Amino acid sequence: MKNTTQIDTLVSGGIIVTMDHNRRVIHDGAIAISGGQIVAVGDRHELHSSYEALNHIDANGRTVIPGLINGHAHIPMTLFRGLADDEDLDDWLEHTIFPAEAMNVDEAFVRCGTRLGLAELIRGGVTTVCDMYYYENAVAEEMVVAGLRGVLGQVLIDFPAPDCVDYNAAMDTLHRFVERWHGHPLITPSIAPHAPYTVGDDHLIAAHRFAIEHNCPLIIHLAETQHEVLESIRLKGHRPVEHLARLGVLSEAMVAAHVVWADDHELELLAQHGVGVVHNPQSNMKLASGVARLPQMLSRNISVGLGTDGSASNNDLSLWEEIDTAAKLHKLITLDPKVVSAQEAFELATIHGARALHLDHMIGSLEVGKRADIVVIQMDPIDQIPLRSIYSALVYATKANDVCDLMVDGRVLLRDRQLTTLDEDLIREEGLVLRRQIIERLQPSV
Ligand SMILES: [Zn+2]
Repeated sequence: MKNTTQIDTLVSGGIIVTMDHNRRVIHDGAIAISGGQIVAVGDRHELHSSYEALNHIDANGRTVIPGLINGHAHIPMTLFRGLADDEDLDDWLEHTIFPAEAMNVDEAFVRCGTRLGLAELIRGGVTTVCDMYYYENAVAEEMVVAGLRGVLGQVLIDFPAPDCVDYNAAMDTLHRFVERWHGHPLITPSIAPHAPYTVGDDHLIAAHRFAIEHNCPLIIHLAETQHEVLESIRLKGHRPVEHLARLGVLSEAMVAAHVVWADDHELELLAQHGVGVVHNPQSNMKLASGVARLPQMLSRNISVGLGTDGSASNNDLSLWEEIDTAAKLHKLITLDPKVVSAQEAFELATIHGARALHLDHMIGSLEVGKRADIVVIQMDPIDQIPLRSIYSALVYATKANDVCDLMVDGRVLLRDRQLTTLDEDLIREEGLVLRRQIIERLQPSV
């Protein structure tokens, strides 16, 4: 009789793009999963003879990749999709987003927007999201129901927020949030001071201390626009990253979104302090914020991931578009087609994205001991044929629609393109009702 080990799930067949240290690509491979963890990755025939699985996912003719990591999002803002386009960041925030948030954002809004966003993220092959918003406890609860992994930041901002009237209330909320979710297998609770221009120095220092004391990430928008840099120099005497360094708040706990306008010295500071950076090319392009210095960041070994930002400024949560854009934008801006290769662009959305969130011990690659966050891609739609290089296909041709199966921690959230944990029809209906309300409140009938 065969001597086999009992496991939960075997994903077998197809091309396995491991993103491990050697960037192994295994043709006709398989992955064995037990207790939500990857226990073997290798040749299909070998794994079939070694393991007896309760569940099978057939990936024959398909590509198997680590779940994509969306390093910066505001998931509930999915309800603001397309609310205001073609404006610069300051006008967009002050004249549309902040008023729309003041009029609409409550816990019910956050839950509805989160469910809408999560359905899109799962369909798009994303297994981990770093989010920052208000009522983040509700975001966490919705994420656990949906089954996605989240680094979730409760926002701290120096004006009355939808969920907290002042700083003391915000810190109370943060304490409760972090204590509740600390140690959860899917949720990493975090503190999210909005930006250096909306949070004062004392509160930035307090947020940093909180992150260190509670061993949690600190998520922040940083050096997003040229205007932010000029105002920082005018009001504080230093550029934004320099200013944070002088306050003593740069650390490995920090995940900084955007970092478009950092000079060489500031990039050195980020590298020295081990700050994770998240590049959001489409949001930066749409708001005309500028182009982050990605090649210079990579050459300094800064951990850089990719993010979509919120759907209000993008206008979707597709990481495939960010991967494609990241690969092309930096070629254009440097006039060098060799800059940011397809493989490097794919690394940003997987293993490097995990590093930027300081979670690379758990996710970002398909390796024994890591959590089973796995996505299966269909490679035979007409726009994928013919296939040559696997990274070229994934970066320049694959779309969110090509994702057919997805699991997080070994739990299947998308099977044959069907969501298994979310009711898509109900989510669509609820979203449309709330959207009508948002429009009515912004443009009251006369
Ligand atoms: Zn953002």
